[in-house]
Amino acid sequence: MNGKTVHIKNYGCQMNKLDTALVSSALKKAGFGLVDSVKEADVVLINTCSVRRHAEQRVFSHLGHLKHIKKRRPEMIVGVIGCMAQRLGTELLKHEAVDIVCGPAQIPQITKLLTETLQQKKKSLAVTEKIRKTTEKQNQTLEKFESAYGIEDKQIPGQAFVRAMRGCNNFCTYCIVPFVRGPQVSRAPAAVIEQIKRLAGQGVKQVTLLGQRVNSYKYRSSEKTYCLADLFEKASDIEGVEWIRFVTSYPSEEFFDEILQAMADSPKVCNYLHMPAQSGSDRILRAMNRNYTAEEYLQLLAKARAIVPDIAIAGDFMVGFPGETEADFEATVELVKKAQYKNCFIFKYSPRPGTTADKRLADDVPLEVKKSRNIELLAVQEKISDRLSAEYLGKQVKVLVEGLSKKPHLNVAQNTDTPQLIGRTATDHIVVFNGPESLAGQFAKVKITKTSPLTLFGELI
Ligand code: SF4
Repeated sequence: MNGKTVHIKNYGCQMNKLDTALVSSALKKAGFGLVDSVKEADVVLINTCSVRRHAEQRVFSHLGHLKHIKKRRPEMIVGVIGCMAQRLGTELLKHEAVDIVCGPAQIPQITKLLTETLQQKKKSLAVTEKIRKTTEKQNQTLEKFESAYGIEDKQIPGQAFVRAMRGCNNFCTYCIVPFVRGPQVSRAPAAVIEQIKRLAGQGVKQVTLLGQRVNSYKYRSSEKTYCLADLFEKASDIEGVEWIRFVTSYPSEEFFDEILQAMADSPKVCNYLHMPAQSGSDRILRAMNRNYTAEEYLQLLAKARAIVPDIAIAGDFMVGFPGETEADFEATVELVKKAQYKNCFIFKYSPRPGTTADKRLADDVPLEVKKSRNIELLAVQEKISDRLSAEYLGKQVKVLVEGLSKKPHLNVAQNTDTPQLIGRTATDHIVVFNGPESLAGQFAKVKITKTSPLTLFGELI
C-alpha cells in the first residue's frame, strides 16, 4: 500500500459498476487502500451518470457536500470519472471541489492522474476530444485495462459483469450515451471468454454480459462473424459458470432468433430478457429514432415467448417525451398491458444537452403531467407484476444468493435466528428468505410462501 486511501462512489448503470470495479482493481494494484467512507479517504472518486438530469443533480449535490469537507481538509483530492466527466469536461474542472476530471475512455490513466495530483496538487483533465472518433490505440488501451479485472473487485459474491461491447451507434434522440461513451465496438470473443475463464477460476458462477445494445454484438474475424449466441456457447463450456445473463437488448430482429434459441437450448443462459420499448406510440417511437413500431415490438415478445415459453421479460419506458399527447400515452399503457412484463423501469423524460431531442424538440410536457403518467403506468405494471408473481406461490425456485437483505422485509419468518437473505432466480425475480449468511455467492432452493409485485418471499429448503 502506498499509504493513500480512496473512496469510490458509483452512480448509474451496470457499465458504471463495471468501470468502478476496474478502477478499484487498478488502484489496489497500484498500492492504494480502498475505504468505505469519505471520512477515511485521501481521495474521493465519483463515477458519474449523465443519462438523466436527476442523476447529474445528485452528483452536484454530492460535490457540494465535498466542497464543505475540503474546507476542513484541503489536501483531500476529489476526482470525477465517467459520463459526466466526458460530457462536461473543463466546466466540471472549474467546480471548487473537483481536482480530476476523467472520461470513461481515460480510466486506464486513473492511477497516473491520482499520483500526479497528489504530488503536484494541480487540477487534471483527461477526456476524449472527439468522442465519436475514438482510435484503435484507445480501444487497445481500454482492452488492456479491462483484462486487469480481478475477483477482488466483484460487487456481489459469485457474480461479475463482463463487457461484451463498448459505446453505441443508435442515436436515440433523447440519449447522451453515444456522445459520452463513443462508437459501438464489440470486444474480441477470445478476450471476453478469457476474462470469463479467469473469473470462473476465481469462483464466479454468474456472468452478465454488458452492452448498450448487447444483442447487436458482432465481431468479424477472418473465419466468421461472431454474435452474442456464440459468446453464450463458448461461455457455457467454461467449468464453474452456471448462469449467463445479458443486458440491455434493443428491439431488433438482428440475431434475435439465435439468442433466443441459445437461451432455449442452454440451461446456463438465464431465461430473462430486458428489452426497453420506451413508448407504445409509433409517432413517439419515430421521434425517438427507435427503429420499430409498437406492433413489431410485440411481435418480438411473442417470438421470444414461443421459443422460450417460461421467459421473464422486463421493459423500460419513458413518459413525457416532447410532444407526447394523452393518446400517445394511452398507446403506451396499451403496450404495457399487452406486453405482460415481469417488471418495468419507468422514467420521466429530461432533456440531455447535446442530444437531438434537446436541440430540436421543446420539452413541452409539464412536469406534473410527466409525474402523473409515471404513476399511472407504474400502477398498471404493478397489477401485472402482482399477478405474475402470484404464480410462484407454493413453487420451488433456484436462487443465486446475493447476501444479506439490505432492508428488513416484515413478511418473512420472525422467529428464526438466521438473517434475511436476498437472491435472484434465473428469471431475475428477487427472492427474500431466512438463511445463513454463508450462503452468499452460492445457489439455494427456496419454497415460495408469499408474493408481492416485485418480491417473492420463501423458506430455504
Ligand atoms: S440504444 Fe439508444 S437508448 Fe440505448 S444507449 Fe444507444 S442511443 Fe442510448
